[in-house]
Amino acid sequence: MRRTLGTVTVECVLGDITDQGDVDAVVNAANARLGPGGGVAGAIHRAAGPGLAAEARPLGPIRPGEAVITGGHGLPNRFVVHALGPVYGQDRPEAELLAACYRNSLTLADENGAGSVAFPAISTGIFGYPVEEAAGVALGTVAGEAKGLRNVRLVRFVLFGERDLEAHERALSEAF
Ligand code: ADP
Repeated sequence: MRRTLGTVTVECVLGDITDQGDVDAVVNAANARLGPGGGVAGAIHRAAGPGLAAEARPLGPIRPGEAVITGGHGLPNRFVVHALGPVYGQDRPEAELLAACYRNSLTLADENGAGSVAFPAISTGIFGYPVEEAAGVALGTVAGEAKGLRNVRLVRFVLFGERDLEAHERALSEAF
């Protein structure tokens, strides 16, 4: 499913974040130390190789809502944006911190000249953010940022399961 707002197209697809060879930047659901971990961070660091952690680690630790950018190393993407989502029920206010992840990630990608960015559903795995709620924050934030983007023309949400895909499609049709 895809929708266009001004110059920016947003789409939701089922897939793996490490398998998005046609986008300039992929976003990592990072940990504070910017190293390998479980879920998305595990998959991204495995696919990128040890050079990614070597470049990223000195940029950390980061706090919830913050993001940093590195090269893609062994991934088929020019950039990896590492964003730290809030732990649900712990890092508050959750919605503001999650929105900051999306906003800061989009700004970094845009400032570095990326024309396309792929996001996973940040915070909805190990960090426990309910996916319906997180999807509303994610798509609402992208809709709010779309006008200010100079380079980014495509934002893709890459979801790992049907339920997550449906939640993001609902949020996309509400936000756009
Ligand atoms: P967080 O620690 O921010 O909660 P996780 O990596 O645990 O992040 O999970 C975030 C979401 O990404 C979850 O919905 C999870 O199912 C999904 N996910 C895990 N691996 C991948 C992958 N390789 N590609 C896309 N999504 C993934």
